[in-house]
Amino acid sequence: MRTFLISTAMATSINLLINLPAIADEPGKLPAQMQLTRIAADKWRADYSFSEAISRFSMPAAGDYRSTAWKPLTSGVRYQAEPSAQPDQQKDSYILDQPVRQLSFEIISYNGFAPKNYAPNNRFSDGGAGIYMGFFDGDVQEGGKTRAMNLTVSYQGLSGETVIPPPAFADAERSLRAYAYFGPQKPAPAGAARLVLDPATPEWLAKLILDTTSTMSAYFSSTYQRPLLRELVLMISVTDTSTAGFSMKGGATNGQITFRLSGKAMLNEHPAIRHLVQKLVAHEMAHIWQENVNQGGIGDEPAWIHEGGAEAMAVEALKSTAVWTTEEAAAYQANASATCKKITRQSDPYQYAYACGLQKFMNMNVDIPVLWRSLISETGQSGQPYSEAMLGSVSQRLRQ
Ligand SMILES: [Zn+2]
Repeated sequence: MRTFLISTAMATSINLLINLPAIADEPGKLPAQMQLTRIAADKWRADYSFSEAISRFSMPAAGDYRSTAWKPLTSGVRYQAEPSAQPDQQKDSYILDQPVRQLSFEIISYNGFAPKNYAPNNRFSDGGAGIYMGFFDGDVQEGGKTRAMNLTVSYQGLSGETVIPPPAFADAERSLRAYAYFGPQKPAPAGAARLVLDPATPEWLAKLILDTTSTMSAYFSSTYQRPLLRELVLMISVTDTSTAGFSMKGGATNGQITFRLSGKAMLNEHPAIRHLVQKLVAHEMAHIWQENVNQGGIGDEPAWIHEGGAEAMAVEALKSTAVWTTEEAAAYQANASATCKKITRQSDPYQYAYACGLQKFMNMNVDIPVLWRSLISETGQSGQPYSEAMLGSVSQRLRQ
């Protein structure tokens, strides 16, 4: 039997990336620059330059990414994993023998995943790579104080290759929660988006992703009545076409959607794959619109709000555009309801956010586009991230 795995491990972990530990009496952020240079097909160099000498550089942990793929080039640097009972408090630290203002690392290609987090390196079959920039940000110890950084990054590719930096935001930290692309592709316009497509993507699947993307972006633009504030870049990488089954990991970050495909089942058109791909495209597109604001958006709220919300927006979008029949949409919702009955937030927080999140939105009995239009406008105006309180007051207002 073929197995189909699908996962959208992304937005749930955004919390983890932006919640640098609360610091009492927080000193200002330390200005820092970093240049990320691709120095070989499978090698990058990160050269940090801090405005003050630092004695320790810490980043939220990312599985074994740093212990296996990052090598300090500066002498007198010691790596130390800092475990914590709370997963979002775990850190990777680099401790310096004596304070320095320059710190360099060599980073080799990495195929793994950071648990429930962005894939650090989306590798393309043609040598291209998407590097997740959120893993380069952290905090530092300077003069005995822990300080967050205000990190700006510049990028340098191999000779002649294309480099697409993450979208720029006024808040430098926010700019880093996205991928930088290095590789041979010249991004092609695809509707409102620019597309970096792995040449190994099977033709039927490339067409399906493109068609669904253009249908969904047209639907979201008109239904949510907000043009995109920043150009959307879509990156589709093919990890392998040799392992069993099919896996597609999708992620929406600021102004970007990334899909990472693997498995030989994708070589042939298959209705189950078609169904999953359509849902994943619609789901990631929903996150793009949830974040299509100048302030606010997805923050520290329980994941079921943005994940369940994206599920509800996606089902509605697929149904409204007749990409799915009413029966397909109903079957998807029924399946989520059945899943939700079997789990709790404690037993399976990940599934809970999706299946029970969708169930909660269905239970609200409000028109989903009307509800999310109001939420998007509320978060954009107030600057407050989505929250249960905001959802409660907005849905109550709509029911009156
Ligand atoms: Zn999601």
